[in-house]
Amino acid sequence: MKRNLLDLDARALTDFFNEIGEKSFRSGQVLRWIHQSGTTDFEQMTDLSHALRSKLAQCAVVDSPQCVSASEASDGTRKWLLSVGKDNAIETVFMPEVNRGTLCVSSQVGCALECAFCATGRQGFNRNLTTAEIIGQLWWATRKLSREPEWARLERDDADRPGRDNADRPISNVVMMGMGEPLTNFDNVVRAMQIMLDDHAYGLSRRKVTLSTAGIVPAIDRLREECPVALAISLHAPNDRLRDELVPINRKYSLRQLLAACQRYVDPLLGDDIPGVKWERKGAPRDFVTFEYIMLDGVNDGVQHARELVALTRDVPGKFNLIPFNSFAESGFQRSPDSRVRAFRDVLIAAGLVATVRRTRGDDIDGACGQLAGRVRDRRNRRTDRKPGIGRSLAEGRA
Ligand code: SAH
Repeated sequence: MKRNLLDLDARALTDFFNEIGEKSFRSGQVLRWIHQSGTTDFEQMTDLSHALRSKLAQCAVVDSPQCVSASEASDGTRKWLLSVGKDNAIETVFMPEVNRGTLCVSSQVGCALECAFCATGRQGFNRNLTTAEIIGQLWWATRKLSREPEWARLERDDADRPGRDNADRPISNVVMMGMGEPLTNFDNVVRAMQIMLDDHAYGLSRRKVTLSTAGIVPAIDRLREECPVALAISLHAPNDRLRDELVPINRKYSLRQLLAACQRYVDPLLGDDIPGVKWERKGAPRDFVTFEYIMLDGVNDGVQHARELVALTRDVPGKFNLIPFNSFAESGFQRSPDSRVRAFRDVLIAAGLVATVRRTRGDDIDGACGQLAGRVRDRRNRRTDRKPGIGRSLAEGRA
């Protein structure tokens, strides 16, 4: 079996070169060819010797997921369906903005968490993505966009424009907010993020890579130790009773445990106190956590919920991102009316918190938050109490 070099971060690539009797510095060279030049053909890696090039052709490949379909929304959002074999496919979404371009990356084929309001959870779960399949989404999208005239032009025009870093790249930010729960695929996700941060590859700063989680508490601590990037928490409810229903992983890790982990994450000093933890010199990537809160009409969007939320998160430096619910077939939930979203936001702001309403992107191509379904061969026994009507009964209970 040939080794897929997209699976390897700098450390693993160095090990690989040592294994085949080559010097460690080859790792940086080859990372640049693969990730910065988008090269898959070892023959084109002209600063490697002929002997090494043919050795690599014998024992290695650069193999990314293949695009099977593409769509573009009226707001410019692009969605790609990438095949990962055996009739499974995942989705990757690109959101261009004036000063940045964000890629939303998937971490699993489907998702096992069954959050009540999420289309991915409804699809079931097949497997974790490999490192190559995760970084392959960024690799593929970067290559695809840089070959389009619109983005090639942007590269030129933007070269001197202040305020745009990574000016030579259409993708300036990555969010691990696609299909799946990234922290239940920890090793592969971290290895892929190391490649995103690596100056020989994408060179993104820790602030420009965001990982979103439903709240796998022990993995949040591990992330802080191994690869601290910007952290977003899918909070969605201000108390355990409601969160147990909306985000079932809450039955395992309660809000109290989750918020304590958030506090540890943004407080690097605390990390020094934990024996055996080597806190990164670079410190925390951001000094706050982003709390994502989906607005479900009549379920979690009342001003009393907002007040509860203020009290709940009092001790954690956080910013709130209110997400209008994006509907999908038989979700059973409704999007909160704008007036309710504003009233909710105003309670947070009056309490001195930062709260913004997320602009919905790409919903006309089912590319918005919670709408990614891909193609998932479900391999799991579903929980029996997860009925499509749960949203309706929650809303009625609170009406
Ligand atoms: N499993 C991770 C990564 C997914 S991120 C997590 O839960 O954070 C996707 C974000 O979109 C999460 O905040 C998720 O809760 C939210 N989301 C899910 N379904 C949604 C929907 N139908 N409408 C709007 N946001 C949704």
